[in-house]
Amino acid sequence: MFGWFENPRLRGGVHAEEHKSETAELSIASGFPIPKKLYIPVQQHVGKPAEPVVKVGERILKGQLLAYSQGTISAPVHAPTSGVVADVKDFPAPHPSALPIRTVVIESDGQDEWAPLEVPDDPFELDAETICAMVGSAGVVGLGGAVFPSAVKLSLGRKSKIHTLLINAGECEPYLTCDDRLMQEKADEIVAGIRLMLRGMGAPKAMVGIEDNKPAAYQAMRDACRDYPNIVVSQVPTRYPMGWDRQMLRYLTGQEIPADGRAADIGVVVHNVATAHAVYKAICLGQPLISRVVTVSGAAVAQPRNVEVPIGTLMSEVLAFCDWDKTKMARLVMGGPMMGDALPIADVPVVKACNGILALTAAEIEEPEVQPCIRCSSCVTACPVGLLPLEMASRIKVNQLDAAVDLGLKDCISCGSCSYVCPSNIPLVHYFKFASGELVKRQQADHKSEQTKRLIDERNQRMERIRLEAEAEAQRAQEARAARLAAQQAQQAQQAQAKAEETV
Ligand code: SF4
Ligand code: SF4
Repeated sequence: MFGWFENPRLRGGVHAEEHKSETAELSIASGFPIPKKLYIPVQQHVGKPAEPVVKVGERILKGQLLAYSQGTISAPVHAPTSGVVADVKDFPAPHPSALPIRTVVIESDGQDEWAPLEVPDDPFELDAETICAMVGSAGVVGLGGAVFPSAVKLSLGRKSKIHTLLINAGECEPYLTCDDRLMQEKADEIVAGIRLMLRGMGAPKAMVGIEDNKPAAYQAMRDACRDYPNIVVSQVPTRYPMGWDRQMLRYLTGQEIPADGRAADIGVVVHNVATAHAVYKAICLGQPLISRVVTVSGAAVAQPRNVEVPIGTLMSEVLAFCDWDKTKMARLVMGGPMMGDALPIADVPVVKACNGILALTAAEIEEPEVQPCIRCSSCVTACPVGLLPLEMASRIKVNQLDAAVDLGLKDCISCGSCSYVCPSNIPLVHYFKFASGELVKRQQADHKSEQTKRLIDERNQRMERIRLEAEAEAQRAQEARAARLAAQQAQQAQQAQAKAEETV
């Protein structure tokens, strides 16, 4: 069922129940109504949050800049439709904490009127820098969930002698089929995006890896690449987490990314397939990233399907479009069931990172009773990173976080393969997520105490400086007083002498 013995290029992984057939055969639904209100967080990417440039009450057009990117690693956000800026306020984020983040609220006018779009005469004649600049100003980020600003990665390609662009079309998470449908329906546009990315990076060739459970997408992409021999489309085995960059890269090239390194260190840059489509739209159509295809599934929706949704739409509205029965839902997940985030509320916006909205019932998330470990080592065999999940969990249980770190905790990608195969139903990945959270807290506490120490040191230095300055000032005053006194005495002596001379 699983293992790394069959192919040396495949490490670990599991055959998870797919649940893809519910949506894989249906075309991407069109006709999603423009929501009355859209909630666009200014932080939808790795890096610094964007800074709003619009004011409350201002009329805006579809595609207009709402917030500009700040710093080298950041991305702008744009208006998904026309209307009026109703507010700029804190609003719950699509995150397990649902903590509020800065959000631009748009009241749509129903016109969906585009701002003027700039389209180059021949996009394939653009130079690399212009391509990167256009991708950056369109707010394109990695749509596989990583949301790293794509322009930064493309520029890295130019600086680091990249020979291969790897397009990750693994989509290995159960339920999710949005990339599959995109490839079936928009293969030509995706290939145009790949060609532009190659040009932007100055790289000679691209590889596209597609799991072999998507034969129609594979065929569509092969057909679209027929005239481009430098873009090779390959099937990879269906085995979760094949969509993990390192696994896909290892399988397709036989190369390993160094433990603390990046794919660029071995001449490869990895982008998600939906990102290539967003690049096509940014450059060939001049459209910023203001919508995305989302898989809506789970047994609590009567009409599971893929829907193209404006960024900022509330998930509750997307679910309602798919006949959501809220009473049946036991868990709401953004992303896939293995690595996605469980959300406490559905009134949170769809963001660029959101490739799935799953309304799962109790039967779908049933967690059987935990039994004692039987030391079968299935978790070890299933781990794609090559870790010892059981050993790490034992250390975490007794609060030996450093020992778990020594065993590789920081390399764990929280894929859940170990938990999935465990015959004793031990929720191993929960331990690792908890421990990783503790490590972050510890780092923050260390950082805080370092900051506090620095502040105390600075204060002490400041006080010492003030004391020395006060002493110097006192010294100066004393010297001035002494000088004044001496001058007075000299003057008095002169006057006395003058008086004495007069008397004589
Ligand atoms: S898979 Fe489960 S039962 Fe088997 S060794 Fe790992 S933790 Fe123990
Ligand atoms: S969750 Fe971590 S330890 Fe478990 S299989 Fe995935 S990478 Fe390995």
